[in-house]
Amino acid sequence: MTQLRLPDAAWQHADGLKKVLAALDDAHGGPRYVGGAVRDTLLGLPVSDVDIATALLPNEVINRLEAYGIKAIPTGIEHGTVTAAVAGKNYEITTLRRDVATDGRRATVAFATDWQEDAARRDFTINALYADPESGEVFDYFDGLSDLEARRLRFIGDAHQRIAEDFLRILRYFRFLARYGGGQIDADAIQACADGAHGLTALSRERIAQELTRILTLKNPFASVDLMIRNGIFTPFLPELSASAAVDLLRLVEREAQFSLPASLPARFLALLTRDIVAADKVAARLKLSNKMREGFGHRLRAGVPTPFNVRAIAYRADIDTARDAVMLYAGDADVPECLARLERWDIPTLSIKGGELIAIGMPAGPLVAKTLQAIEAAWIQEDFPDAARQREMAVQMVNAALAEVNQSN
Ligand code: ATP
Ligand code: MG
Repeated sequence: MTQLRLPDAAWQHADGLKKVLAALDDAHGGPRYVGGAVRDTLLGLPVSDVDIATALLPNEVINRLEAYGIKAIPTGIEHGTVTAAVAGKNYEITTLRRDVATDGRRATVAFATDWQEDAARRDFTINALYADPESGEVFDYFDGLSDLEARRLRFIGDAHQRIAEDFLRILRYFRFLARYGGGQIDADAIQACADGAHGLTALSRERIAQELTRILTLKNPFASVDLMIRNGIFTPFLPELSASAAVDLLRLVEREAQFSLPASLPARFLALLTRDIVAADKVAARLKLSNKMREGFGHRLRAGVPTPFNVRAIAYRADIDTARDAVMLYAGDADVPECLARLERWDIPTLSIKGGELIAIGMPAGPLVAKTLQAIEAAWIQEDFPDAARQREMAVQMVNAALAEVNQSN
C-alpha cells in the first residue's frame, strides 16, 4: 500500500462536515471519506459531493446525527445509506457492507466492519480509495493510486463477474473512462462490457438514461462513446443510433470547443441519432426523458439546415438555444461562425403590428385579419425582422393587396 496523504482542499473545511465527523466518531477508527471525494482531491479536481463510509450501523448513524442536531434522511437505509443534511450541504454516509447476493440489477448486502471487504464490492480501483479525515492517511486496497496516476480504469476483480453482478457498471465504466482514462485501455474490460451489453435491458430505463446523460454531458465524451459504439454497447437500448453517430458527435464536440460553448444535452443526444423525428420520439419515450427534452428534439430536427439567412427565423419559431444547437449539429462548417454571430446578443423581437391596426387601415373585421397578420409576419421574418415603421408599410401594402383580391373575386 502506497503511503500518501490526502491533500487539503476547500470541501474539508465546510461548516457541517466537522460536526458530521464528530457525530460518527467510533471505536473502529472513525468514519472515512471514500469514492469521488478522495479520488478527485488526489487529482486536484473540485469535489461536489462527499461520501463517507462508517462501520456504524445505519440506525446508530441516524441516532448519532440527531443527537448532534443534524438532520438524518434514510435515503437508502436498506443498503446502509443515510444522508446527513447540515449547513446547506448533504453528506452520504454508508455503512461498510459486503454483497450477499446480486442479480445484475441490485445487490442484497450485509453490513460489515471490514474496510477491505467494503472496498472489494466497489466498482473500480480508483473508486475504492478511502481517507482518514483526521490524519489524511489514504487507504488503498486494490492499487487504485497507481491506476489513478497511470490514468488506468480497472475493475476490482474479474471484469466479467463484476459486470454480471450489476450491468450498470458497463455504463459507469465508460463514464469514468471518459473522465479519468487516457492511459492504456484495458482490452479485457472492454470485452467484458461488450459481452455484458445485452444485460443493460434488465436495468430500469431511468437508470440507463441517467447514466447516459452523465456520459453525454461530460466535456469530451467522444473517445469513450466511440468505444461504446464500436463495442455494441448502445445496441440493446438505442437501436436508433445512426451510422454516422461517432463522426457527428466528434464534429459537435469540436465545434463546442472551437466556439467555447458548453455542452448541450439535447444536441449531444441528437448527434447520436438518425435525423428522424419519429425515431427521436421513440428514444425519448423508451428512456423516459422529460417532455421538454422530447419537444426539444422535435424543434431541433425541424430546424432544417441553418444558414446565416434563416438562423434567426429558426430562433424566432423556437428559441435561441434550439437555433444554436441546430447550427452546431446541422450547419455547414463555413456557415457556423456567422450563424452563431447572428444569434449572439440578439433578442427575439415581436411583431408590433396588431389586428386593430389592420382594421384602422381599412380592413373589415373578420377572418381575413388573422390571415393577413400571418402573411405580414411571414414577410417580416423573410425580411429579417425590420422595425415598426417598415412593419407598418408592409401592413398597408398587404391590407390593400388583400382588399383588392377580395374586390376582384366579388
Ligand atoms: P462522482 O464524482 O460521479 O459522484 P463517485 O465515485 O463519487 O463519482 P458515485 O456514483 O457517487 O461515484 O458513487 C460513490 C461510490 O460508490 C463510487 O466511488 C464507488 O466506490 C461506489 N459505487 C457506486 N455505484 C457503484 C456500482 N454500481 N457498483 C459498485 N460500486 C459502486
Ligand atoms: Mg459521488
